[in-house]
Amino acid sequence: MDYPTTLPYPRLDEQRGILKQEQALLEPLAQASKRVPDSLTTHPDSFGSLKRVYTRDVYGKEFHFAYVRRNKGQIDHGMARAFRKRYENAKYNVLLHPNRDENNNPCYVDHDQRTWRDMDASMKKMLALSSWPLLKGVPTVAPFVKSETGFSRVVAKQPMAFTAVFTMPEVLKEILKHVSTEWESMSNLGRTCQTVFCAIGDSMTQCDMNKGDFLNLDKSESQLAGLVKKGELTQDQADRVGVSWLLSVSPFRMEGTDHAEIPMNEYGFYDYQIMLKLPTMRKIVDSHIKLYRAFLYHGEHMQKILLHRVTLLNIPAVKTIVRTMSNLSHLGIYNCELLTLQAVIPLLEIITEANQRRQERNAAHVNLDFSPRFFQGPMVNGKCYGVIPYDNGTINTQKATVPIIMKAINMALDTDINLVRPGTAFRRYLEKIPFKLDTLYHILEAIHNIRDYKNGLHGGLATLSEDQKLEMETALWYDLIIATNGKCMDESKLRKILMLNNSIALMDCRDCGQSLPSNFYRGEVVARRAEYRICHGCELADFLSHHQYNMRQPKGELAMKMWDFGKIQDFTTLLRRPSTQASGILAGSLATRNGRDQRDAPETWLDRMKGLGEELDKASAQRQHIIAKAEDKVEKLRLLQVKSGTRDYIKSQLRENSIQDLVERIQVNMLLLGRAQTQRRPENSVATNWQDQIMNYRESLREQWSKWLNNDPYALPGDDGARPDDLSPDP
Ligand SMILES: [Zn+2]
Repeated sequence: MDYPTTLPYPRLDEQRGILKQEQALLEPLAQASKRVPDSLTTHPDSFGSLKRVYTRDVYGKEFHFAYVRRNKGQIDHGMARAFRKRYENAKYNVLLHPNRDENNNPCYVDHDQRTWRDMDASMKKMLALSSWPLLKGVPTVAPFVKSETGFSRVVAKQPMAFTAVFTMPEVLKEILKHVSTEWESMSNLGRTCQTVFCAIGDSMTQCDMNKGDFLNLDKSESQLAGLVKKGELTQDQADRVGVSWLLSVSPFRMEGTDHAEIPMNEYGFYDYQIMLKLPTMRKIVDSHIKLYRAFLYHGEHMQKILLHRVTLLNIPAVKTIVRTMSNLSHLGIYNCELLTLQAVIPLLEIITEANQRRQERNAAHVNLDFSPRFFQGPMVNGKCYGVIPYDNGTINTQKATVPIIMKAINMALDTDINLVRPGTAFRRYLEKIPFKLDTLYHILEAIHNIRDYKNGLHGGLATLSEDQKLEMETALWYDLIIATNGKCMDESKLRKILMLNNSIALMDCRDCGQSLPSNFYRGEVVARRAEYRICHGCELADFLSHHQYNMRQPKGELAMKMWDFGKIQDFTTLLRRPSTQASGILAGSLATRNGRDQRDAPETWLDRMKGLGEELDKASAQRQHIIAKAEDKVEKLRLLQVKSGTRDYIKSQLRENSIQDLVERIQVNMLLLGRAQTQRRPENSVATNWQDQIMNYRESLREQWSKWLNNDPYALPGDDGARPDDLSPDP
């Protein structure tokens, strides 16, 4: 259930791709280089190896290279995936734009030289699924919601016992109770066959944020009675309005006649810009109000809630959900626009606080499964950074994500939440972030190992000798620093990062409060006084709260206003609150909206929010207008330039300057609309993106010759990550 193992793709380790030892991540297996001996004679067995440093002769000069340890001790943190190496290679081959030739690996062929174009239809469809929702003809319109076309293949015949298991509601519920708390596990289970897919879908109450269809859950009893009276519902239907133990909320992809008009490009994707025909912000606000009404009327019956791409879901909203729903046992939050990576910390704070209170009442815990907003980047000329929408030139994402993950893992473990094991949404998200090849697993392991050591799992810190502590801590931090770096490092550099006068010197971050080695701070930040020092992670968090992509700021403000900046803490207050600022400027402009004078009707809080949504729609339309006008002007100026040539140098230069200004204006507005990125030159780019990572990966694959014999990483039968010591390298 981990990754399709039948797909053909090249495997860097089997092709001995990383040929240069000084590019490798893990310590060498063959002793072409000499290991620098430990100064210690004993240390706890459970700990694994001490630091791994090897001497190497490079152009006649001796270097000390430090590697990530292979033997990281005896504690199994459950971080490894089955077929880990295969999975890691697969990411570099199929994750990004799986159907696109030029963006995909040209080596993406099997033994018979067949590419993805030669795959059968179902295989292509499966590849296409990974880019949902930007494609046509796939069998789903939302998670576990079939499209009108549905599956083209007939249901395969299953063993009787299997069908019986998945068609028996009681048994199915028991299975889903466990699986539904981990999004990747559940979606993998759903992909096994149609029977299971439909069984899972049928267990859910599925609400549509796009159409605002909440299956009447958003209606009060008197409203339902009114509908019965009007004949819009039968009494029976009204009685049956209720929610299953598993609620799934997502925007359903629009289908039908309007859908057919959207042109599809040669890769099977919808034209990106036309895809932006999404519901208006006013409609989106309205859907949120319906969602919160459903929570108010049926919250007490809700046990597990899965929220997919809920545009305005923010921290105060989540706080209210967790606080007011006493029977809630699981909250899944997936790819919601305002909840980017750094939101994992406040979300875990909410869950931790709720669980402490529940513990006092002897009530069951709440679980969190969280996948932050993922930034795919524009389809045309864009780069996929995953964690950030664009490279601002200061955030090194590989370095910056580590402190955030580290804090999150520690918080999650403290409140007994499984955040990063394979199967969870957060781990799935991390796998989609462009970390350097094979580093994610080692980063996660290193973080867990540091925690274990601090918690005294290798012996109480008071009982270990100072020498032992120094060597063990050095080994642990080396692992984390090297894995974050993506390849082995010169030991003298490492010592500079970690040590001061032969002892470990960590720095405290003002914002997240973690003690970290200096590589997790920017150079100029390291020199600052402690109260002004913040780590890469906290700089990333700050950037994510302030970026401009896709109207992030006005959307975030609207969502905050809806909850009156956290002053509203329950659904009743939110939904019944009268507008306190009816006399304000905004209300004044609202009063004459659509030419209707509404001053007589008392305006509610939420009407005002819908009005704010409408303001946003207008702002967005304005920006589109500005772009169109500027594009028009640029075209005219360019024509003029061609016509008049460079006869009048000054005039020509003036026109060139205006063109530059206009192009910049277009760029800024495109970014605000989420249709473009700011681009950096390669030399100024610091954020890791998939396009460059994949390019480097391919170059490594092509490299056939190297000065040094490479022994790592190399092929092992089954490549399950386990490496018995007696294996000698390939000839
Ligand atoms: Zn920090």
